[in-house]
Amino acid sequence: MQDLFDYARKAGIELKSVGACQFCNSAVSRGVFECHENLSLLTEILDFNNPIYYQTRFLSVDAMALQHCELHGPWNNHIHLTRLCLMLEKNIYWDYSKTPLLSNIINIYKKDKKESLMPPQPAERGKLTSSDLLTASTPEECITTVKCWASAVYYSFHNHQSIISSIASNFLNKHK
Ligand SMILES: [Zn+2]
Repeated sequence: MQDLFDYARKAGIELKSVGACQFCNSAVSRGVFECHENLSLLTEILDFNNPIYYQTRFLSVDAMALQHCELHGPWNNHIHLTRLCLMLEKNIYWDYSKTPLLSNIINIYKKDKKESLMPPQPAERGKLTSSDLLTASTPEECITTVKCWASAVYYSFHNHQSIISSIASNFLNKHK
């Protein structure tokens, strides 16, 4: 979370600690800070060191990052969206070894490009938010809720579908 604070400070973004989240519009009372607390509650139910929960971990990281995308660099949207495309649409089971491979694909893609994927407005980044994670109390419920959350966020960025599909194809052509 410290990275996010540092990024916000450098980018001149004031993080609001009262009311709804300024990024994902979640109806929390302590803004993005509460969103991060909600996300961390997953670790109380799921052991993310267990490979059977890797996919859920990556889905949650991507959903969280994209709903709060002002807090990361412009090319991170490409990475998170392409990873969601590969997991949700191409049925790739993600693990830690695949992320550097995807980063390489993005690095090749972005060479000589100036492109940024504009996010939807804060209230339009998916109907589910970090608050919905609180409804899950078992591992199975967490898995289902995170998948629904990630899908909602992914489809809210549908304007960029063709770019993301093409990067996902680059990944699959090289690594499948
Ligand atoms: Zn939020």
